[in-house]
Amino acid sequence: MAAAEIDAERLAPVTHRGHRARMADQRDRTADAYLYDITRRLIAIDTVSAGSNAAAAALVAEELEALGFQVAVQEWNDADVLKRNVVASIGPAVPDGLLVSGHLDTVPFTDQSGWTRDPLTLEAADDRLYGRGTSDMKGFIAAAIAAAARLEGARLVRPLVLAFTADEEIGCLGARRLVPELPALLGTVPVPRLAWIGEPSGFRIHRAHKGIVGFRIEVQGVGGHSSVPSLGVNAVTVMGRIIDVIARIEEELVAGPHPDGAALFGECPHPALNLGRVRGGTALNMIPDRCTLDVSYRPLPADDPFALHRTIAARIAAAAPRDPQTARPPRIEVGEPRLTRALESPPGTALEAALIDGCGAIPAAGAPFATDGGELAQVGIASLICGPGDLEQAHQPDESIGRVALERARDGIVAVVTRLCGA
Ligand SMILES: [Zn+2]
Repeated sequence: MAAAEIDAERLAPVTHRGHRARMADQRDRTADAYLYDITRRLIAIDTVSAGSNAAAAALVAEELEALGFQVAVQEWNDADVLKRNVVASIGPAVPDGLLVSGHLDTVPFTDQSGWTRDPLTLEAADDRLYGRGTSDMKGFIAAAIAAAARLEGARLVRPLVLAFTADEEIGCLGARRLVPELPALLGTVPVPRLAWIGEPSGFRIHRAHKGIVGFRIEVQGVGGHSSVPSLGVNAVTVMGRIIDVIARIEEELVAGPHPDGAALFGECPHPALNLGRVRGGTALNMIPDRCTLDVSYRPLPADDPFALHRTIAARIAAAAPRDPQTARPPRIEVGEPRLTRALESPPGTALEAALIDGCGAIPAAGAPFATDGGELAQVGIASLICGPGDLEQAHQPDESIGRVALERARDGIVAVVTRLCGA
């Protein structure tokens, strides 16, 4: 399919109307050009979580400073890689402002098959814009900046705060650093109590999502020649028995009951458990001395997120799995759990009403993915997830977003901010 680099002039609608209409078109076109320019520049910067997001953060900070925002940048090194969160505010230092948030990082693309386009070049075709992060979620960040350009800060009676984070895709690590520092980064501006996170939802409003708990189970056996099994401890065989133990727990989870989960998470009302990766062994004639299993599950907002981890560890310990051919015990380690927090914001907030009226968004059940909202909730911020991208596009090759949806997001942000923070 033919593709061209984005050109707002070319994409703008052709009209043959009167002078006043043409002037209005010209203004829209200029505004659209800014939206597409920011989107193009953000897509062009590789912000895969494994690398630095510093350049993208600098771009965002510079644009917002030019628009009159007070900008604070939080930076740190993660294994010698520079990471940045950006927080920007505009409007008076009074309570009950609005936080609009997104993550700057993206999932990888280099080893992902199926790409027919350059992931780092914004391309337009069939009324869609293509590139890594268009849906998840640089498009929304560009829309927020383009919306900010349309707002007159002086006319806000409550503050608008923008927060753009690093490393959301690898466990909301940027938000975890940001949240405790938010009051200091905002200075005199009180931390808003409502947040809009523009993750790809096709303009559905999600007020909840499950968390994610991940951990590794390691079996250390004894290697050797496969002709004398009694001298070794087969780590893969032992792991097979551990997998059986976990599968039984999984059956119990599926059987339920799940009174809390059914309303919000109809597709999977229990904590979805996944055995994601198993690795062990070297060759068919060698006794494998080591095997690892990566496990994750998604706890419900009301759950103790670590309860299932404790259950799995206890049941493995009770089963005391052994190699069938030797009396020697394996060493089994159930690793520490890493948590991405679940979210459950109250229904019926002013933000929900504003999203419905100002953006035409539609309330829906829980989101099928986790977000920075779980971290924001730690300081009492109630987040709603609602964005212009499509969930089906997130993390996919040839990721894209609808051009109309992107413009609708920008206009929706203007409308919602005007309603919640305007005079
Ligand atoms: Zn995302």
